[in-house]
Amino acid sequence: MRKPIIAGNWKMNMSRDEAINFMYQVSEELPSIDLVDSVICAQAPMMRCLIKRQGENLRIGAQNLYWEDAGAFTGELSGKLLKDYKVDYVIIGHSERRSYFGETDETVNKKIFAALRNELLPIVCVGEQLEERESNKTNDVLTKQVKGAFKDVKAIDMEKIVIAYEPVWAIGTGKTATAEQAEESCAFIRGLVKELYGDVVADEIRIQYGGSVKPANIDEIISKENIDGALIGGASLKADMFIEMVKAAVK
Ligand code: PEP
Repeated sequence: MRKPIIAGNWKMNMSRDEAINFMYQVSEELPSIDLVDSVICAQAPMMRCLIKRQGENLRIGAQNLYWEDAGAFTGELSGKLLKDYKVDYVIIGHSERRSYFGETDETVNKKIFAALRNELLPIVCVGEQLEERESNKTNDVLTKQVKGAFKDVKAIDMEKIVIAYEPVWAIGTGKTATAEQAEESCAFIRGLVKELYGDVVADEIRIQYGGSVKPANIDEIISKENIDGALIGGASLKADMFIEMVKAAVK
């Protein structure tokens, strides 16, 4: 049985006061971490304030990291420092980073190694653009992204990794993939992991769907066999919605 994981991606949103208020609201409400992993991925300067208030049932994640741990890399974020601050997760290869900041499968791969080296749990995003889906290239894109991301990653490390299938056309657009489309692509990704690492790793790896998930559609999405949770942007900014979606994952 794979434990569900619901991760909020706050992107470049939330003031300090809003974040503190969110933590206050969720603190008593989240189900036990034994049943579901609840994660909030926030901007780096907020880490300390969130970690101080995270309680037992919430984990904190970053939205990016650099592949070197230290040095002359002005403006970048060190995985080693994230670990010092007791951050648990890090999103790698989000489509916004791929489209606006030149992230490639190669940089995603280097960042996965940096995360693993620093004992951070990577949430690795993959997903196709609308034109790619419309021209039946979804599986080719996913194959390239998955094989590129996990190049030389050992099977033993795959158990620390979460994959987020995020069709780019469904992120922040209000357009959700149908539960069937999401399941089909998550099953395809699980098949790729099986091809690369065998049955055991493929059965154990957690695959999330991301793209306009909200309380109204989460039940159907996570009822699917190959979908083990969700990576959620907009709807994770409201504490009551986040709690509702985490609770839905436990049902
Ligand atoms: C995301 O930020 O990864 C995301 C899926 O955003 P949204 O839920 O707003 O589509």
